[in-house]
Amino acid sequence: GYRSRAAYKLKQLDQLENVISGGDTVVDLGAAPGGWLEVAAEAVGPQGQVIGVDLQRIRDFDDHDTIETLRGDMTEERTRERVIEAAGGDDSAQTGTATGTGGPVDVVISDMAPNMSGEYSLDQARSLHLARQAFETALELLDTDGDFIVKVFEGPDVDDFRADVEEEFQYVRATSPKASRDESSEIYFIGKGRLTSPVSSGD
Ligand code: SAM
Repeated sequence: GYRSRAAYKLKQLDQLENVISGGDTVVDLGAAPGGWLEVAAEAVGPQGQVIGVDLQRIRDFDDHDTIETLRGDMTEERTRERVIEAAGGDDSAQTGTATGTGGPVDVVISDMAPNMSGEYSLDQARSLHLARQAFETALELLDTDGDFIVKVFEGPDVDDFRADVEEEFQYVRATSPKASRDESSEIYFIGKGRLTSPVSSGD
């Protein structure tokens, strides 16, 4: 079995759009306790690499030596820098260049969710903020043609967020996996095929 029921959501999302391939480097944001990490490790195989980040410590995996974990807050720039380092990227070349492509990562997935206050409008706004942080991280990390999965709670400004993601990918699909039917307000956007940004010449 997997560490979380969430694992089955990633399986469904991956089956829907073939996001993770053998040999891929995958970055998983909000990865604790680690169900998505286990599913991703199975999908990338022994030649792949999976990097998980969470505020919480993630217990070591005895049966997956392709998984590396970091503890940190993805809303902080220095956590993003550590992720880029772990992925083997050139930090100086990547950080802050949201328009550049050619990062070291094939897939960025985010299941980040806020601590629930019980007040939906607040939780929804926090969820959208985390989703936007994940999107920024994806733009720093993802190679051209790379894919992105992000969770967000339905509500105001989600259409604007989707439109922003659509500008950076060939297409975006929105879905609510059956495995998450009991949390019906959550949707996942799958951004397929990161577009190459026109390089503003400067050699
Ligand atoms: N996909 C995971 C799995 O399969 O086990 C479950 C993820 S759980 C729904 C959401 C996670 O997001 C929590 O573990 C939480 O600590 C994490 N999270 C929330 N805000 C975060 C932040 N700012 N930086 C990193 N992780 C965050």
